[in-house]
Amino acid sequence: MTPWSVLLFLCVAGSHAMVYDTIVVGLGSAGTTAASTLAQAGKKVLALEAMDRVGGRVNTVPFGDGLVELGAEWIHGTANSRVYETAIANNIDVVNQTLNFQILMSDGSPADTKLLSELMDFATEVIDDPPPVPEPLGQYITRRVKERINEKYPQIANDTDFIESFLFFMDLVIDNLEASNSWNDLSTFSDYEELKGHQYASWHRYGYKTFFELMLNTYNNGPGYPNLDIALNKEVSRITWPRQPAEDAVVSCSDGSVYRARSVIVTVSLGVLKERHAKLFCPELPQEKATLIDILSIGVVDKIVLLFDKVWWPSNVSFIGFLWDRKARINIHPKDKWITKIYGLTIPLANDNAITLWTSGNCAKLVETLPEDVVKTKSMEILRRFMGRNTNIPEPTAMLRSSWYKNPFTRGSYTYDNLLTPQYPNAREDLGKPLLDSAGNPRVLFAGEATNPQHYSTVHGASETGYREAMRLLNISSKI
Ligand SMILES: Cc1cc2nc3c(=O)[nH]c(=O)nc-3n(C[C@H](O)[C@H](O)[C@H](O)COP(=O)(O)OP(=O)(O)OC[C@H]3O[C@@H](n4cnc5c(N)ncnc54)[C@H](O)[C@@H]3O)c2cc1C
Repeated sequence: MTPWSVLLFLCVAGSHAMVYDTIVVGLGSAGTTAASTLAQAGKKVLALEAMDRVGGRVNTVPFGDGLVELGAEWIHGTANSRVYETAIANNIDVVNQTLNFQILMSDGSPADTKLLSELMDFATEVIDDPPPVPEPLGQYITRRVKERINEKYPQIANDTDFIESFLFFMDLVIDNLEASNSWNDLSTFSDYEELKGHQYASWHRYGYKTFFELMLNTYNNGPGYPNLDIALNKEVSRITWPRQPAEDAVVSCSDGSVYRARSVIVTVSLGVLKERHAKLFCPELPQEKATLIDILSIGVVDKIVLLFDKVWWPSNVSFIGFLWDRKARINIHPKDKWITKIYGLTIPLANDNAITLWTSGNCAKLVETLPEDVVKTKSMEILRRFMGRNTNIPEPTAMLRSSWYKNPFTRGSYTYDNLLTPQYPNAREDLGKPLLDSAGNPRVLFAGEATNPQHYSTVHGASETGYREAMRLLNISSKI
């Protein structure tokens, strides 16, 4: 036996006899797309999912009289979106949510929403006009916003408190979009492309889970696919990838079960890869792949959803931003500072009586560790400070919150383009490249939002990568 075959033998001892065409690891958007595409093409597929549900970073849960989305909520852009097209093809009417917004100050007074909206638009538009030499995004936006204020609003150019408060708020807006801890962790250099069309299309009362049911052919008690086996609560602990064309890939689970297939599509998040890749793959990943996993960044966005007996907030707005006065912010006790990083709330369309507070970065990680009663009390303190001036805000009847960082099967919310991106512009593409056997056949393939160079951080982007890898296998098998 060569050392290589000894290693392989040790890794695969005890495996079952049945050999699948493909094993898909993870049933989020990428994995579900890959598994259903292969199954529809007649392949024998096994999907192994560590959690007790399908969806991954999409998690629709019943709450009060409706649903809430603890993960992805909207279809960001409809043109050529696999998500939107799946809805339309199945006569599901998604609803375009207009994010009418209002900004309130920390003393409860309304802010100058017209001025702030113009400045916010400007601050987000300059992202599409990056500087020739990449720099931290926050630094760049700050410079451009200050220039804009000097040119267009000279009357506030010396109001340093206002400018600082606005920039603090804008940093949080960007962090909640990008999952970053600071807008200076982001690079002005990015290949991200928005899909055209409405940016906030919602599955509303259907719930985002419907996307997965449609893909798996289980919507409305559909029968699924006979050649697709799905196993939940199956944590994959080891993937043994073959070098010889005749050998199978072997996938072992933490409950001791072992499965074999000709190929494996790995769709776990970048956070999971960062934490586990050294133990997950046998033999270990090539150094170049491990380096990419290290270089790329995944951040955290979390939600705190509060349910009330009745609606007490204004019915004509769907996003309320919280703009802290600088002095009020500085006076918050250090142990409660995290509340100043909750940048606002949105009104979920799948529920009549709920509101969602948003957190990101280190604040989100901290909130995940705090006791329920502290989070609830402090959330109410924020609501009463910003919105309680003329309204008697009742106590919530229930609270739900996400914990995407704590979750061992996500370890974060989604990826962003960090300051290393200009040096490694192909990192996502290269992360998505398969591991080949000695004949050049792809045996372990990689999908998931992190591997999408243009549409990362989205459900549609993740789905595109699942389709990409399924087609990689189907194109090869059609040539054999
Ligand atoms: C709070 C939040 C809000 C968001 N909002 C939006 C939005 O509005 N619109 C949008 O388009 N996107 C949004 N996103 C991003 C979007 O949810 C993700 O980009 C997308 O769902 C990722 O899909 P994926 O298939 O790449 O990964 P995942 O969904 O993470 O799927 C990977 C799967 O692998 C499983 N897994 C992990 N380890 C193992 C193991 N060892 N064995 C077996 N299985 C394993 C996981 O349990 C998971 O189910 C949001 C995300 C979050 C967290």
